Amino acid sequence: MTMRRIYVHLLIGCTLALLAGCNRSVGSTGMVRPAFSGDSAYSYVARQVSFGPRVPGTESHEACAQWLVSSLERMGASVEWQRGTMTDYQGQEVPVKNIIAHLGSRSMNNRILLAAHYDTRPWSDEEVDYEQRFVPIDGANDGASGVGVLLEVARRLGQLQQDTTMALPGVDIVLFDVEDMGTPDFYTGAQKANTWCLGSQFWASLRPIRPERYSFGIVLDMVGAPDAVFPMEAYSMQYADGYVQKIWRTAAELGYGSLFARKKAYPVVDDHYYVNTMAGIPCVDVIHYNARSDQGFPFWWHTREDGMQHVSATTLQAVGEVVLAVVGGK
Ligand SMILES: [Zn+2]
Repeated sequence: MTMRRIYVHLLIGCTLALLAGCNRSVGSTGMVRPAFSGDSAYSYVARQVSFGPRVPGTESHEACAQWLVSSLERMGASVEWQRGTMTDYQGQEVPVKNIIAHLGSRSMNNRILLAAHYDTRPWSDEEVDYEQRFVPIDGANDGASGVGVLLEVARRLGQLQQDTTMALPGVDIVLFDVEDMGTPDFYTGAQKANTWCLGSQFWASLRPIRPERYSFGIVLDMVGAPDAVFPMEAYSMQYADGYVQKIWRTAAELGYGSLFARKKAYPVVDDHYYVNTMAGIPCVDVIHYNARSDQGFPFWWHTREDGMQHVSATTLQAVGEVVLAVVGGK
């Protein structure tokens, strides 16, 4: 280890010690564990699911969105809505309501973007039984898990920013809407391009008129299953390889090397794709990817099985610690 590396390690250690606070504990490699409660993140996932499917345009979606905003504000974030419309796979207008929460430093430069989608898919189009395919999903993993982790990250950062002597980085938590309304499998009409991730496409389309500058971003999607595995997704490696390496190295140092597997996964069109290609911000997708399944996703993906029975506080804990460590070690 060179002197420079020792210095960098000390620097990261100091910031992490600040993030660790009173729950300070040390990982298997001696790295300080950030204070993050997987149980708290789990309760935020369960709360979202309790609203019912969060399909854009429905009352459940609106009630959940209002709860997300009031929760983030209570945690100390300054929150803004970003409202508009996009066209769906059939060419019909769909309302978009992105939620943007600012925490930490107010500087417009070198901010960190943390994102997940809070809408849920209107159909269970991966169900084997055809009749079941028109039922909306609970989205406990697909949507709510990433948002649950980010709410707990926000709660922790909100506590830390009360200490005005601490220099926190600027963090924007963006909860994207309308990620999961892409063309359903049963649709037989004309195929339209770019039907997924409408909220992040809308967000990215407004980037030129927005003042914030981001150094990098992390998207969390399907991060709660007890048997989750997060290989290195191909678009993330193509556009943000340095940050992929940093996140997976941090995970290994915290003892989560088997969860954050050092294997390359196929490209996935998720919100990070548009953050990279439209907004030009290097952005990494942490996503449960199962190379052994036909679609590359877990068996419950886009089915009625995507419920709380497949969410584990232990997995949420690991993901949250890694995110906080990366934020602290910037
Ligand atoms: Zn989905």
